[in-house]
Amino acid sequence: SSLWSHVPSAPPDSILGIANLYRKDPEKKKLNLSVGAYRDDNGNPCILRVVRKVEQEPAPDHEYIPMAGISLFCQAAAKLILGENASSIAEKRVVTVQSLSGTGALRVGAEFLYRFYHPNPANTEKPRVYIPRPSWGNHRKVFESAGLKVSEYTYFDPVTCDVDAKGLLEDLKNNVPSYSVIVLHACAHNPTGADPSEELWKEILQVVLQKQLLVFFDSAYQGFASGDLEKDAFAVRLFEQSGIEMLVAQSFAKNMGLYGERVGALSFICKDTCPVDAVQSQLETIIRSMYSSPPANGARIACRILNDPQLFQEWKQELVEMSARIQNMRKLLYEALVSRKTPGDWSHITKQIGMFSFTGLNAKQVRYLREKHHIYMTEDGRASMAGLSRETVPMFADAIHDAVT
Ligand code: PLP
Repeated sequence: SSLWSHVPSAPPDSILGIANLYRKDPEKKKLNLSVGAYRDDNGNPCILRVVRKVEQEPAPDHEYIPMAGISLFCQAAAKLILGENASSIAEKRVVTVQSLSGTGALRVGAEFLYRFYHPNPANTEKPRVYIPRPSWGNHRKVFESAGLKVSEYTYFDPVTCDVDAKGLLEDLKNNVPSYSVIVLHACAHNPTGADPSEELWKEILQVVLQKQLLVFFDSAYQGFASGDLEKDAFAVRLFEQSGIEMLVAQSFAKNMGLYGERVGALSFICKDTCPVDAVQSQLETIIRSMYSSPPANGARIACRILNDPQLFQEWKQELVEMSARIQNMRKLLYEALVSRKTPGDWSHITKQIGMFSFTGLNAKQVRYLREKHHIYMTEDGRASMAGLSRETVPMFADAIHDAVT
């Protein structure tokens, strides 16, 4: 028998497992709303025009790039999320390394925390990482893979289909120990599509300061949520301006449509007493042992777009187009349900932002949609609004109507 005979199969990834079922379904009029990737109004993947343009420029070479990635890309990424005039950047308190998209930024950040985050001398146990309930399915696995323990904080109210502001603040105040790491979705919370209001962000910041929590922002949708890069960076910038130390993971998968190119960045925003060169060198050591150095192609494309004013404008225009199409799908779906007099309040569909809507459908209804209507979404009731088109909205609305009546 093989050396590996004893190896059990890993449970399938809940999202990719659904995508597999979709692929196997022979029905022509099937609809995949399970994956988080933008589709155009014909349901096709699309390459941004500005990305196509930059792709015409041949790569200068295929040499290795440094462990920390392309430095002009790293600087531009930090500026994009923290703001042109961020004092942390002016004061050289920011360390940024290129990463394998958002997941890689979280993973390298997690590894660094495992090695170096020992904030409480009275307690030898490592601080826990708190992620929202619910959160992106991979968060727990990424932090646990680095050896960290993960717990959850209250985030969502399934009755209102909105952020449970009171529950969230109480949980942070009463149940999350000081010095814990807290993961915050910068905007367009996945999977719920429900974000804190600006007021609530300010209250969260106050608790973070009181409890001395270490914030790890996950920014996977900047510019893609509202169409406005500045607006989607509100929370990160608010926290940066308070002067606290924090980590930020950035992904350029959605906002530049560079999914498979794996373009991202990890930033440490430090205090002025922080040994930034030491932090940078330890991040490089982690990267070296994990994958040596990051891929060049996607970061070169992003670097050109971020550093060229004309290309940057073109990108912003496309962000507006993509986010407007998604918002339009929300509106059409909402109107379609209202016109069918589908029982229930569906206003959360237009209130939520970003790629996803947490429809409020339960697992049984989701299975019914899959088996009867060939519509695929994750069992938590999350549907990708970016996967809808004018043609498929009526089909989805009919199916929801059928499932809930
Ligand atoms: N974080 C959140 C909240 C996400 O939704 C995603 C992607 O779906 C990611 C991180 C990471 O994606 P990627 O590694 O493709 O950048």
